[in-house]
Amino acid sequence: MTSSAYDIAILGAGPVGRVLALMLARVAPDPARIALLAGSAPVPVTPAAAIPAADPRVLAMNHGSRVLLESLHAWPERSADIRNIHVSQRGRLGRTLIQHTDFNVPQLGSVVAYSGLYAKLDECVAASGVTVLAGPPAQIGLQDADGVRIQQGETEILCGVAVQSDGAGASDVRRDYDQHAVLTTAQATLPRRGWAWERFTSEGPLALLPHPQTPEAYSVVWCSAPDRAAELAALDNAAFSHALTQAFGERLGRLSSHAPRHVFPLALSARRAQVHGRVAAIGNAAQTLHPVAGQGLNLGLRDAARLAQTLAGWLASRAANAGSNPGPALAEFASARHLDRFITAGLTDFMPRIFATGLAPVEHACGAALLGMDLASPLRAPLAQHLLQGFRA
Ligand SMILES: Cc1cc2nc3c(=O)[nH]c(=O)nc-3n(C[C@H](O)[C@H](O)[C@H](O)COP(=O)(O)OP(=O)(O)OC[C@H]3O[C@@H](n4cnc5c(N)ncnc54)[C@H](O)[C@@H]3O)c2cc1C
Repeated sequence: MTSSAYDIAILGAGPVGRVLALMLARVAPDPARIALLAGSAPVPVTPAAAIPAADPRVLAMNHGSRVLLESLHAWPERSADIRNIHVSQRGRLGRTLIQHTDFNVPQLGSVVAYSGLYAKLDECVAASGVTVLAGPPAQIGLQDADGVRIQQGETEILCGVAVQSDGAGASDVRRDYDQHAVLTTAQATLPRRGWAWERFTSEGPLALLPHPQTPEAYSVVWCSAPDRAAELAALDNAAFSHALTQAFGERLGRLSSHAPRHVFPLALSARRAQVHGRVAAIGNAAQTLHPVAGQGLNLGLRDAARLAQTLAGWLASRAANAGSNPGPALAEFASARHLDRFITAGLTDFMPRIFATGLAPVEHACGAALLGMDLASPLRAPLAQHLLQGFRA
């Protein structure tokens, strides 16, 4: 058994853990005293899902996340702009259009591939000076006045603060949506560059996002009941393309898909408290959300940014006094993040459920709300503002 000591250990090297490591490297008196614990083999997001080595997710990043990643020189080479977002409900009246011109921004957001972002962050972390410890999945152990103990295989790590960014949602608050997402890529006969589409159907939300790596193609995130998702995943290309065009409608002409399909189970899981003693949870480890409106990583990056900001002062004081208590900084972090987590989790929990009640009056009311939002831009603005930037305390 070997043992080593660090100021901060970050357990989980997904995009949120890596961004935190990069931000801390900029403020730490000695970046090598920040440890990033990266499992040697990818740990599946959910045991039920067969996740291939190259993660197939594409991520809609809002303006705030892009600014953050660019400031870290971690914006991936390939991305697709979202200039307009069209939200509608299948089989009911109403649609709302959110346009970049309403907010005087060049784009509302951008789409990147998870794998592209991961690779770029990997490159930046390698040059940052933080210590990367590859090995078997790490476990957080006991904590006391000296710090937190973490076990990674045969190595024991003692750190002043442990950050859990392993993507494993907790179960304080849990909702199983009874939905799985089918992910794939599709081509349209009438593509519209820079447009993203979110369509609420009685089966679940269906999103088409401009593809970051293939211009004129769309990334499809199609949510439905698990049996239906399995059925969709198993269809041949022609039958799947037909079903997709039926569900989406004719706005982009005919849709055809010849790409592999991947299935992700969906659930909400969140911790009530983001901090326990010297351990803070961020990103999916703090809250795993439904992918509707593409908020999970955006929210996780805001967790990382705020934590780095609040720990900067503690790191400086620890350089002078190794016994410095991180408690006040962590309490400030938890309090600053509370409202944003609450609003974002509430929004992404509400949307897929309310549009899929199967009750005509409720669905008509949702349609009317979308129509109302479209007619009354003051109503549309708060939603778009949140999607653009999230809440910053
Ligand atoms: C279908 C789908 C579409 C989505 N679309 C969007 C979108 O458009 N926009 C958006 O913002 N978000 C989106 N999300 C959410 C987004 O993918 C997540 O919020 C984001 O990946 C969370 O990042 P993370 O770093 O917290 O966790 P993860 O990405 O899960 O990374 C955690 C890392 O920790 C590692 N790990 C796990 N256990 C251990 C351990 N014990 N020791 C060491 N390492 C460990 C894992 O291998 C992994 O590398 C989507 C999610 C899904 C499922």
